Amino acid sequence: MIAVSGSASGIGAAVRARLEASGLRVLGIDRRDAEIIADLGDTGGRAAAVAAARERCGDRLDGLVACAGLGPQVPVRELVVSVNYFGAVALLDGLRPSLVAAHGAAVAVSSNSSTLPNAESPLVDACLDDDEATARDLAATLPSPSVYAGSKLALARWVRRQAPSTAWAGAGARLNAVAPGPVQTPMLQEGLDDPLLGPAIRGFPIPTGGFGTPQQVAAAITFLLGPEAAFCCGTVLFVDGGTDALIRSDRY
Ligand code: NAD
Repeated sequence: MIAVSGSASGIGAAVRARLEASGLRVLGIDRRDAEIIADLGDTGGRAAAVAAARERCGDRLDGLVACAGLGPQVPVRELVVSVNYFGAVALLDGLRPSLVAAHGAAVAVSSNSSTLPNAESPLVDACLDDDEATARDLAATLPSPSVYAGSKLALARWVRRQAPSTAWAGAGARLNAVAPGPVQTPMLQEGLDDPLLGPAIRGFPIPTGGFGTPQQVAAAITFLLGPEAAFCCGTVLFVDGGTDALIRSDRY
């Protein structure tokens, strides 16, 4: 069984469809249209989601995709960091014992915005210090693109720190991330419709041309979940049409 947060829409829905098409059982976690309905923006919702998922999978989980997230167009910036970082980490942490029991694999959905200059801020450190109150206070003072990018940078760093540890790799559970560029989903459409964000998103250089599809990202995620990625650990796989390679060619 594979748990997928954000399974009701966009990339999460494409992951669900791809896994189910290959005969796997999916446990969706979302605010709507999922086996487990939960709000990952607050601590009670996260705890309830973890408890329900552990019960439903009998504490043995083959995979977890932490995909639920909110885009930079969401006006309540505190909520963006709470869902994108703290909601994702709560699922990854809380379901780790179930993944370890089944020698499973987890994939977090970061973003290629995590490598943009506006991603670095004290918000990233507050996240990695597990200080949600400070992270939310900082989010309220920062521009929304920085909050979004910072939440995704913190998530990628959390994955890089945790994946090789005794808690994950040492215990037999793999952890990786994907970093998509702009992908045609309802979230992206809301950003494109925003008068400030829309022109910035359209101006993003994408060497392969055009936006990505949820199916392209789902293919990368299912690769990282599966046995063919057995030697991938702490990888942040960019699925972004070459934007990161273009902007940061030598940051390697
Ligand atoms: P989407 O809006 O289509 O889907 C997001 C899903 O997350 C929805 O089903 C929504 O209900 C769920 N969700 C949101 N807040 C939640 C909460 N508090 N509790 C539980 N569920 C919640 O968006 P998408 O584009 O498919 O995005 C999926 C992930 O990919 C996000 O983490 C996003 O940041 C990331 N991402 C998207 C893009 C893009 O261009 N679409 C690019 C990079 C990264």
